[in-house]
Amino acid sequence: MTALTILDQLPSGLLETDPKALLSVLGGPTLIRLPGDAEPPLFVSVLLHGNEVSGWIGVRRLLRQQTRLPRSVWLFIGNVAAAAQAVRSLPGQPDFNRMWRNATHPVATAVLAAIADTQLFAVVDLHNNTGSNPHYAVVTDLAPGSLGLAKLFSDTAVYVKQPATVLTRAFEGKAPSVGLELGPVGDPRADRRAHGFLKQLLNLGRLPHTQPEQLALFRTVARVLVPEDVVFGFAAEADGEVELVLDDSIEASNFATLPAGTWFGRSRGNARLCVLDNDHREVTDDYFDTRDGNLSARLPVIPAMYTTDPLVVRQDCLCYFMERLN
Ligand SMILES: [Zn+2]
Repeated sequence: MTALTILDQLPSGLLETDPKALLSVLGGPTLIRLPGDAEPPLFVSVLLHGNEVSGWIGVRRLLRQQTRLPRSVWLFIGNVAAAAQAVRSLPGQPDFNRMWRNATHPVATAVLAAIADTQLFAVVDLHNNTGSNPHYAVVTDLAPGSLGLAKLFSDTAVYVKQPATVLTRAFEGKAPSVGLELGPVGDPRADRRAHGFLKQLLNLGRLPHTQPEQLALFRTVARVLVPEDVVFGFAAEADGEVELVLDDSIEASNFATLPAGTWFGRSRGNARLCVLDNDHREVTDDYFDTRDGNLSARLPVIPAMYTTDPLVVRQDCLCYFMERLN
């Protein structure tokens, strides 16, 4: 079996297919090259993470509406096997958004080989995220075209260099590229945003150029975790068993600056949060002060992706701390 299927038309019934059923229609990761009035093509990727379905729902809606595309589209539908199980990736699979550096994975190798001789208009990789956040684009380079693409989506953007294996990194210097965080899975606004943004982009003759100072540009400085052995809960529902009670209202302040002294929660005994910097060094004491069981920020912080979903806290983290780049 080949790693990647390449098609030059939509398989029949695809636009009626739900994310979980894509595996049975496509059989695996698929690149579909659709002709349109303008060239070069817009490259769109969806479902690199199998449970992040808003991209596919938005693309499907767009393609249903258009009998003729204003611009060619190359659509990469990624981890359909994980989508069938509604998970990010299956045990034993690579993370499809961590396999693009040097393209060691056969799917990534095949996609990059398929586009090697093609100039692209832009690259848009669609994701869902967690917690209540403003819309934001993730850029992996600061080229004016990539920032222009980011600003079309939102005035807020996050610049990341790590991990170096995300899809957009493979296009650095070749085409303007962004990852878009559409909002939580299951929120119809996220699906609408995917659809609306792609429609706008397809009808553009050229991409605007944007300078860093025209955006609220952030980068990650630290990741805040709840240690595995700590029983935690959020202020609204925490009961007596909980060692660490966290403030659920922080979620409303994602991407806002919180002053030094901001209360993050209450701890019983020695339970505390763990903060890791970008090099995975523990820097908890730089960020938090625990006095009389109260956990507060030692300095001004900008939380992002702060979530009150305990499952996400366990699987990923409580939040990130950001800094403004400009
Ligand atoms: Zn994702």
